[in-house]
Amino acid sequence: MQLKLYNSLTGEKEIFKPILEGNIGMYVCGPTVYSNVHLGNVRTFLSFDFIYRSLMHLGYKVRYVRNITDAGHLTDDGNVDNDRFVKQTRLEKLEPMEIVQKYTVDFHKVLEMFNLLPPNIEPTATGHIVEQIELTQKLIERGFAYESNGSVYFDVLEYNKRGLNYGELSKRNIEELFANTRDLDGQGEKKNPQDFALWKKASPVHIMRWNSPWGEGFPGWHLECTAMSTKYLGEKFDIHGGGMDLKFPHHECEIAQGKACNDIAPVNYWMHANMLTMNSQRMSKSTGNYILPMQLVTGENDFFEKPFHPSIVRFCFLQAHYRSVLDISNDAMIASEKGFIRLMEAVKVLNSVAPDNEKQSEFSLQEWKDKCYDALNDDFNSPILIAHLFEAVKYIFALNDGKETISSAGLEDLKSTLNAFIYDVLGLQNIEENNNEKLDQTLKVLIELRNQARKSKNFELSDQIRDKLLAEGIELKDGRDGTTYVLN
Ligand code: AMP
Ligand code: ZN
Repeated sequence: MQLKLYNSLTGEKEIFKPILEGNIGMYVCGPTVYSNVHLGNVRTFLSFDFIYRSLMHLGYKVRYVRNITDAGHLTDDGNVDNDRFVKQTRLEKLEPMEIVQKYTVDFHKVLEMFNLLPPNIEPTATGHIVEQIELTQKLIERGFAYESNGSVYFDVLEYNKRGLNYGELSKRNIEELFANTRDLDGQGEKKNPQDFALWKKASPVHIMRWNSPWGEGFPGWHLECTAMSTKYLGEKFDIHGGGMDLKFPHHECEIAQGKACNDIAPVNYWMHANMLTMNSQRMSKSTGNYILPMQLVTGENDFFEKPFHPSIVRFCFLQAHYRSVLDISNDAMIASEKGFIRLMEAVKVLNSVAPDNEKQSEFSLQEWKDKCYDALNDDFNSPILIAHLFEAVKYIFALNDGKETISSAGLEDLKSTLNAFIYDVLGLQNIEENNNEKLDQTLKVLIELRNQARKSKNFELSDQIRDKLLAEGIELKDGRDGTTYVLN
């Protein structure tokens, strides 16, 4: 079984060959930390978390780098943002780095809630200004960039003149690009409207600014990813990922910067995750069509009829392939919840199944495992993998009903394979176990409060805690070693 993945650059599913056998360098564009991540952002990061987990499960050693965009940067159309950080700092009356810290912490909390593994390296754009200045200088020296009025631009036409192909990833024709673009920013500064900023002169109101050979300014957004991916993964690495919307211009520009600097294409496989939609429209902060992850989990929203556990949200996301659009809806979440509960019920039931080494089963464990791995190797096809897991679920319930049999070796194999796919690869969590842990912690807090009340002779309160818990079916038992509880 060979791993195949869809390469956006060639538009084909290709057999994956790492540069260094057994090792993978993977870079994924991280969040812009000037506001909370919405559920759409989470989907992209979750898609790559699944890919990261799958690669590790398939035996690769992965160095996973995901950056934090914490410097004011350029907007999608390549024009200078009128500094979203500045706007947000005014709105919240905070220092720019306070904004950055606040939303970086929020981002980490959200991803942890959905059980995403942290990347191996999480570099920040502001921590790599020196590298970005060096790259800009190199591009000027090599004739691919020019200074204009304190800013530095990448010369797209020069790049193409040298036989390189700007537009190769997004399949855009440079002539069309030139014809269809109006220069909204850098008017008079750029040679051509498609030229993009590597370094931008800071206006007097701009707070985030650094010294450079071209005066005070800040780096272009596209450059930060080239600087950080090159630093931690080398001039050429295996996989670069991000949301579909980053293909152009962001990733197109990264390819151009890499080739212009080092004479080689920086990335072997470009992977793009598709969008999360709501009401059939792309989830986005700017249109207001979005939901925050916490709102879905707490139920504080007008769109879903009830709250959903993060693991169910994760399961719902993985029921769609990472390259397909996923429209989140109440019905989709309810259906995922049902499926999730059935899957977890099967895991539980499997623990009480007794093996039978005499009878032969109709279910071929090896065939089933092969199908699961085929799905994973086929461009990380999570919905097909999940469908195969449900074949095992059916078998497990048949075992439980005594309609099927399994040998003791088979039972161990089924348990470990199922656990590996559910917990390690899909990254799901057992809600029941988690809830029990939470309940245990909560009861310990209540016992501690009751002890404090007794110590200060507030027997009315201590009795109230005991009686109210008893009414809920939780009995406190005082013993020599302290108080324990029994769930009735
Ligand atoms: P940003 O912080 O805006 O740079 O976005 C972070 C990541 O979220 C990028 O990889 C985007 O492609 C991705 N993203 C933005 N909107 C959506 C969406 N509606 N669905 C999935 N991914 C998205
Ligand atoms: Zn990037």
